Amino acid sequence: MKLALHWKILIGMALGVLAGYILGNVFGMADFVADWIKPIGTIFIKLLKLIAIPLIIASLIKGISDLKDISKFSQIGGRTILIYICTTFVAVSIGLMIVNLIDPGDKITDATLQELSSSYSDAASMKVSAAQNQKEKGPLTFITDMVPDNIFGAASSNGNMLQVIFFVILFGISLLLIEVEKAAPVKAFFDGLNDIVLKMVDLIMLMAPYAVFALLASLVAETTNPDLFIALGWYALSVVLGLLIMIGVYLLIIKFYVKRSPIWFLKGISPAQLLAFSTSSSAATLPVTMERVEEHLGVEKEVSSFVLPVGATINMDGTSLYQAVAAIFICQALNFQLDFSDQLTIILTATLASIGSAAVPGAGMVMLVVVLEALNVPQETLAIGLALIFAVDRPLDMCRTVINVTGDATVAMIVGKSVNKISKPNPKNWDDHLENVR
Ligand code: ASP
Repeated sequence: MKLALHWKILIGMALGVLAGYILGNVFGMADFVADWIKPIGTIFIKLLKLIAIPLIIASLIKGISDLKDISKFSQIGGRTILIYICTTFVAVSIGLMIVNLIDPGDKITDATLQELSSSYSDAASMKVSAAQNQKEKGPLTFITDMVPDNIFGAASSNGNMLQVIFFVILFGISLLLIEVEKAAPVKAFFDGLNDIVLKMVDLIMLMAPYAVFALLASLVAETTNPDLFIALGWYALSVVLGLLIMIGVYLLIIKFYVKRSPIWFLKGISPAQLLAFSTSSSAATLPVTMERVEEHLGVEKEVSSFVLPVGATINMDGTSLYQAVAAIFICQALNFQLDFSDQLTIILTATLASIGSAAVPGAGMVMLVVVLEALNVPQETLAIGLALIFAVDRPLDMCRTVINVTGDATVAMIVGKSVNKISKPNPKNWDDHLENVR
């Protein structure tokens, strides 16, 4: 029997955790894992990043040129941004509610506080200085940064995704505006290119089960000090609970607004979720998210090719929820009093900070500094605060990245539904769909 991709990935993950634990913790062979197993995961992430820019270019040009008129495009663009802001706002509010209910900061003892903050103080101060670099920019820098002055320069770094999108949109719109005969060969070229890049995603995904095995094995083998992990249990639980509620919100939207089966949606998107979990990077997961949303969830390219790359960069519901919980947890643990207006500040700053977070591992924690500074937490306290949550940041990063990716896919479905651009479920998935609807 042929196993579905998500099962293969899940098995790879489980075996990876086991192998990482046995080799790293039982046999003390963490170096072996780092030298001989981890590279498989690293190669896989590099391959995914390698095709991100070609994929955005081919897919977005094809998407825009398939639109019959430009007003459709501005309609999709406006809706996408608005819905992204709304979902992030909901996520932060859920985070705030949970953390105020559970009060994880009050459950941490002084001894643990001491131990955590001394173990991770160096790593934490690096995050604070990384955030400082980000902050020295003016308020409109975000927008000026989006406009490239050289397309090759922009396409030379995956961190410039928004610049590439900017260029491609301008290109795609111009393509729509020139004579049809002249546009035709260019459009045909990008149609073909798009098929090639999607085939490349398919080929790279053959490696996925082995790659997640390698990624998780090396992560587990490198993890030290599980006790500190447990001390942060209530805090981690609050974040995870909030993230689970957020998944519930997405599924309700899929059921009642998009009118599709939530289980079918989860099945369709699960390989992207599992990769998001294993890589902690929505940018690295993007090629797979696009493939799943188009081929398995039936969102047409006109919508997905714009909504998903933009979402990978600016829509981070999981990150914003985490930032709200972490900010309050740190303030509670360090006895820093917060009033109601501070909670409102968190809603605003966590929304903005998540937009500003890069789609790479650990970025959410850097931007957490911005949220804490908006609350006037003093510099020394800030470093202690970050040190406090450092031990569990990676596993939480893995979880919040899953939500970031699921959020993007959900918004692609919402926008697709609102402009009537979701096709009937793909025949590949049709049997599953019927099964679940019955
Ligand atoms: N790792 C997250 C992502 O790539 C960002 C973060 O919260 O650190 O989506």
